[in-house]
Amino acid sequence: MATYKAPLRDIRFLLNNVFNVDQLFASMPDTAEVTDDLIAAIVEEAGKIAEGMLAPINQSGDAEACRFDNGTVTTPEGFKEAYKAFAEGGWSSLTGDVNYGGQGMPKMLSAVIEEMLFAANSSFALYTILNTGATLTLSQHGSDELKQRYLPKMYSGNWSGTMCLTEPHAGTDLGMIKTKADLQADGSYRLSGTKIFITAGEHDLTENIIHLVLAKLPDAPPGPRGISLFLVPKFLVDESGVLTGERNTVACGSIERKMGIKASSTCVMNFDSAAGYLVGEENQGLSHMFTMMNYERLSMGLQGNGLADSSYQLASAYAKERVQGRAATGTWQPNLSADPIIVHPDVRRMLLTMRANILAGRALSLYAASQLDISRFHTDEVARKKAGQLVALLIPVQKAYCTDRGFEACVLGQQVLGGHGYIAEWGLEQNVRDARIAQIYEGANGVQALDLMGRKTVRSKGELLEILSGEMDEFVASQKDVEAMQSYLAAFENCRGRLEEATATVLARSSDDLNEVGAASYSYMELMGLVLYCFMWQRILAAALADQGSESPDADYADALIKTGEFFLQKLLPRTESLLTEISSGAHSLMTMRAEQF
Ligand SMILES: Cc1cc2nc3c(=O)[nH]c(=O)nc-3n(C[C@H](O)[C@H](O)[C@H](O)COP(=O)(O)OP(=O)(O)OC[C@H]3O[C@@H](n4cnc5c(N)ncnc54)[C@H](O)[C@@H]3O)c2cc1C
Repeated sequence: MATYKAPLRDIRFLLNNVFNVDQLFASMPDTAEVTDDLIAAIVEEAGKIAEGMLAPINQSGDAEACRFDNGTVTTPEGFKEAYKAFAEGGWSSLTGDVNYGGQGMPKMLSAVIEEMLFAANSSFALYTILNTGATLTLSQHGSDELKQRYLPKMYSGNWSGTMCLTEPHAGTDLGMIKTKADLQADGSYRLSGTKIFITAGEHDLTENIIHLVLAKLPDAPPGPRGISLFLVPKFLVDESGVLTGERNTVACGSIERKMGIKASSTCVMNFDSAAGYLVGEENQGLSHMFTMMNYERLSMGLQGNGLADSSYQLASAYAKERVQGRAATGTWQPNLSADPIIVHPDVRRMLLTMRANILAGRALSLYAASQLDISRFHTDEVARKKAGQLVALLIPVQKAYCTDRGFEACVLGQQVLGGHGYIAEWGLEQNVRDARIAQIYEGANGVQALDLMGRKTVRSKGELLEILSGEMDEFVASQKDVEAMQSYLAAFENCRGRLEEATATVLARSSDDLNEVGAASYSYMELMGLVLYCFMWQRILAAALADQGSESPDADYADALIKTGEFFLQKLLPRTESLLTEISSGAHSLMTMRAEQF
């Protein structure tokens, strides 16, 4: 029943009209050849893959799920062929290092593609995203020798990558991991331990699997400062990057039965004195991992947004066809036994909430991706540093807020379909199940909120926020003569004021009671999410107004954007007021109950 259409028009509008990517990419030598036309061609092609190759095996993949048998994992029917076609199309190397077979494309481009892959088939997307994350980590921190040996085959899609961090007793708190690495005479290491929840730890899609594993050396300092990063291949590889035929002593012990993303294998991985190679420096594993985590977390936000969009597409089409009851203001469709449910204000509330958050979430993801690109490609060190600081502030919000709004949108979409939303046939219940995990993995959303409030706001004494504020001021100044923007800008300034007040309150209280930071963190992340979504809506509205006045053939599209933006400002943004009240109420009511009273 579910059919997914790549949101090409939205993407085109955001990239060209809102973010002027042509200008941005032209300003950096390494992206200068990434022109409008090239972007349009690549995005269109990726859209065809999402629609034609991945969406058709999404529901069947969910029903069939991955199967485990004596250490091997079989993916559902069609996945192997799809992965092969994906790899042969060059998609595994899109953003990769050009020195090792990658195409060096910017993140802004791959972000829109990732969102489509997640929307069409989140389980499939995960195999590709994990590989991208592993290659990125390796290309940034691996020795030249390791890169030569592994990257080309990972970029070509012949081999795939994993990230092995979590252990049974160590999830958020990775400082407690127990996996050990012992140095060998030849400079390699032997790794022993158990990792759990490893996405794509074992499968039948590629001829080798390259695990990036966090482990501790025997003399390592305790806690997070004593963690190193290792590369552990499933099958051993010789110096020229060719398989020796020998199996390494790493094996999948079982796969998890779980709520959603059932066609993605989630594996227990046992390392039994497995051969491994140090990536980067000893005891720097966590900080090496963090360079990749900004990219991975961005991807999770895109998963939330993609599934929200797929749900919106279904729900809005359904609402135009399903007839129940009559419009409160009188009959709309006298020739039908009832009016389509899109006449009802409450159904519109659900659809507009979904649509407003999807567009802002996509824009925020692109904004964060643009800063990742500037921090990677810009020739000016000052510009790179500023972009890196913005990335640090934006990513925890993008990850947590987009995945929360993504899950909410899937549930709203389900509600629009009533009982039919609960039935497997329509695909909405699968979206709800598939979207839920994005709020949990890559750092649970509560931990993202704590990162935003603690490290990125309190510890930086509001410095990162000032940089973001500077960007917002610049935009506001650019619109000061646009009459039609003034009421929108007033709403924006209002919510910015609330964010400033909340920040000042928490900064002032945090020195007296450290629980104030944790107590405020989730509401603060939501407040920041709303302010950022509002910033994105200001930019979209400005671009839509400009487009509407330019006799564009897209005038109706621009008109719909303006109406959606006004809905956001009037119906969703006011929550900033109650969030400020929540934050101002402090930690007391959270911390007074004794543990045994729960
Ligand atoms: C389907 C799936 C796929 C996954 N894929 C991978 C993978 O490929 N590689 C990998 O290494 N891991 C993977 N994970 C693991 C995932 O990243 C962790 O589950 C996640 O980081 C949370 O860790 P945890 O489950 O141990 O929860 P815990 O750390 O036990 O946290 C439980 C709850 O307590 C909260 N909490 C914990 N500490 C704090 C704190 N200091 N302050 C405030 N709140 C706190 C959390 O927010 C959470 O709500 C996957 C998990 C799943 C379910």
